[in-house]
Amino acid sequence: ATPTAVMVATGVGANNGVLIKGGDALERAQKVKYVVFDKTGTLTQGKATVTTAKVFTGMDHGEFLTLVASAEASSEHPLAVAIVEYARHFHFFEEPSTTKDAQDHSRETRFSGWLLDVSEFSALPGRGVQCFIKGKRVLVGNRKLLTESGVTIPTDVENFLVNLEESAKTGVLVAYDDTAVGVLGVADPLKREAAVVVEGLLKMGVIPVMVTGDNWRTARAVAKEVGIQDVRAEVMPAGKAEVIHSFQKDGSIVAMVGDGINDSPALAAADVGMAIGAGTDIAIEAADYVLMRSNLEDVITAIDLSRKTFSRIR
Ligand code: ADP
Ligand code: MG
Repeated sequence: ATPTAVMVATGVGANNGVLIKGGDALERAQKVKYVVFDKTGTLTQGKATVTTAKVFTGMDHGEFLTLVASAEASSEHPLAVAIVEYARHFHFFEEPSTTKDAQDHSRETRFSGWLLDVSEFSALPGRGVQCFIKGKRVLVGNRKLLTESGVTIPTDVENFLVNLEESAKTGVLVAYDDTAVGVLGVADPLKREAAVVVEGLLKMGVIPVMVTGDNWRTARAVAKEVGIQDVRAEVMPAGKAEVIHSFQKDGSIVAMVGDGINDSPALAAADVGMAIGAGTDIAIEAADYVLMRSNLEDVITAIDLSRKTFSRIR
C-alpha cells in the first residue's frame, strides 16, 4: 500500500469512530488470526446489576446488605458499584418515607450516612475485598478469597452459587467473622451486537477467544451465549498478557479487545490492541486502536479496512 492509501484508510477509520495509531498497526490487523476478547465491559455491557441476595444465617436482610455495601464502598470494581447501588436502593427506595422530615433525612444520609465504619480495607485483585467492621473480619468476593482466608463454604451456599453461575451470573460470597453468611448474584448482559460479531469473525476465518478473571462456570455460560468456544477463565490480572503470548508462540498474529486497567498489559502484548472507547484511559493508552463507539462491530470494520488497504487479491 502506498502512504496515500494508508492515510486514506486512517481517515476512513476515523470517520467510523475507529482511531488507528499508526500505519504499522493498520498493516498488522489484516493478518489477525485470533481475537481475544475480555468478558466484563467488552463482550458484556459492563453494567452489572444485582439480581439476587440471599442470607444463609439468621442475619437480617437489610443488615446483610448494609454490611456488604460498607465493605464494597471503597472498591471501584463494577461488581462493587452494583452491590452498593443495590443496597442503597433497598434502604432508600424500597421503603419510601412519607413525611417531609424523613425524606430530607434520607436524602442527607443517602450517600454515606448509612454505611458502617470500616477499618483495614484492602482490595485483593482477582479475588474481592477484605476489611474489618465492628471488630470482625468481612470478606466479599469469590471462592478463592474465602478459601485462601480459611473460611469454609457450606454445601447449601456452594449449591446456590453453582446455580447462579450456570445461568451466566457472577456469584459474590460474603463472610462475616469467618462464617459464610450470604451470596449475591450479579448479572451483566451481553452487548447486543456481540454474538453477530463473533459469527462474523468466524466467517472471516478469525478465531474468537474469551479471557476473564471470572469463574469457569459463569465464563462458559457467557461464552456459550455469545458463540465462543475457546475460553480462559479465572485468569489473574497479570495472566491476560500470558494468554496473548501463548497464542503468539507459533507466529500467529493476535488481537486483544479490552476495556479495563486489567487488560492493558494484554493490549500492549497483543500484535493489535483494541481498546473500547468507553474503557479506562490506561487501556486506551496501551492500545493501537480505539473503538470510539464502543461497538464490537468495529473490530470487524478494523480488520476489513486493513485487508482492503493491504491485500491486492483475497
Ligand atoms: P474480570 O474483570 O476479567 O472479571 P477481575 O480480576 O476484575 O476480572 O475480577 C475477577 C473476579 O474477582 C471477579 O469475577 C470476582 O469474582 C472477584 N472480585 C474482584 N473484585 C471484586 C470486588 N470488589 N467484589 C467482589 N468480587 C470481586
Ligand atoms: Mg473488562
